[in-house]
Amino acid sequence: MNEKTIILLGPPGAGKGTQAARLASECGWPHISTGDILRAAVAADGPLGRAAKGYMDRGEYVPDPLIIDLIRERMAAADAKGGVFLDGFPRTPPQAEMLDELLVELGRSPAEAVLVEVPRDELISRLSGRLTCERCQHIYHLVSDPPRVSGICDACGGKLVQRSDDAPGTVVRRLEVYDEKTAPLIAFYEEGKRLSAVDGIGSQDQVSGRLKEAIGWS
Ligand code: AMP
Repeated sequence: MNEKTIILLGPPGAGKGTQAARLASECGWPHISTGDILRAAVAADGPLGRAAKGYMDRGEYVPDPLIIDLIRERMAAADAKGGVFLDGFPRTPPQAEMLDELLVELGRSPAEAVLVEVPRDELISRLSGRLTCERCQHIYHLVSDPPRVSGICDACGGKLVQRSDDAPGTVVRRLEVYDEKTAPLIAFYEEGKRLSAVDGIGSQDQVSGRLKEAIGWS
């Protein structure tokens, strides 16, 4: 595959980050997660992080102009030339429109979206039991995918933490924000005949297999 831009679309907790990381490591394309970039910016306490932190802690979206600047810079990097997996972006119609314009400017093919579908009660249970490595961002679940040693990342030995926005009250708000602001993107990509959907329930291997089939890579 060449110069593809694959968007993993779906609510928080659907497994977009886990799957994007798996697919990216298999094919050598970068996994671009705006959430990871923003969390790194918050940890670095620079201007972007300071501007974004309050929104993120409340489960709200960071304003489009900040995200658009960030993605413009990231997509122009040398490692994005071959193909990319986008996770957590675009999240609003203006972001999707901006991405279309940016891809034209960069001379790339239009983006394709794959919707990862997971029922609401499963999303809530996944998010509230989720543990994230603060060093490498690897994701675990307290019950369904625990680390070998409690609190320690199997992959890099980093400390596992609950993301501040995975706290129960914030999870509900994030799902509401998804319904209001991101769910309209399903129609946006469907109208352009650029959407496929996969069932996000099952083992990580099963879901990866469905995603590969959906993007014509199996
Ligand atoms: P995520 O890791 O994708 O769940 O993102 C965590 C948080 O970062 C979100 O709840 C938003 O506050 C912020 N964020 C990440 N990506 C975007 C985006 N494309 N647009 C606006 N806010 C974003």
